[in-house]
Amino acid sequence: RADGIDLKAHIRSVPDFPKPGILFYDISTLLRDADAWQIAIARMTRALTPRRPELLAGIESRGFLLAAPLASRLGLGFTMIRKPGKLPGPTVGLDYELEYGSDRLEIQQDAVRPGQRVVVLDDLLATGGTMAAAISLLQQVGAEVVSAAVTIELNFLGGRDKLGVPVDALVSYD
Ligand code: 5GP
Repeated sequence: RADGIDLKAHIRSVPDFPKPGILFYDISTLLRDADAWQIAIARMTRALTPRRPELLAGIESRGFLLAAPLASRLGLGFTMIRKPGKLPGPTVGLDYELEYGSDRLEIQQDAVRPGQRVVVLDDLLATGGTMAAAISLLQQVGAEVVSAAVTIELNFLGGRDKLGVPVDALVSYD
């Protein structure tokens, strides 16, 4: 890399979290390193720019950590996709299946302008269930979702095949 930082060296993998048998990729170590985090944000900015977003969307909660600094750098606003019951006013929600059980995300009905070009952000793409739900919600409230962007992609789970939009990832694991 021209900027000389191997981001994988700043991502810690934690066995058996949050459940036995799961290898969890922890971005805490990336966030707390000023240089590495700055470079991660700069690389994400370069990845997003050609998608020509007009608004960013972040998925609670680690997606917010990306959406806020990226929106600021790109001179854009951002909208929050949240866990149930957190957003005031009229909302649209979607229940989606997880490996064990289900989860729900919500968005405000007036979160985007009709046809607005939106890039949706999260820290990590695994099975793609969370990102697919977020994209569907954005589309339901009128967005044109132009891409999904994540810091980490777990290739072996095939999440990107569920999304129907291009995916930009900074690092990936096979
Ligand atoms: P998916 O819905 O794609 O299976 O899971 C992705 C969601 O779960 C993301 O919101 C992400 O934050 C969280 N997630 C799943 N596995 C990991 C992991 O190993 N590390 C981190 N940081 N988040 C994960």
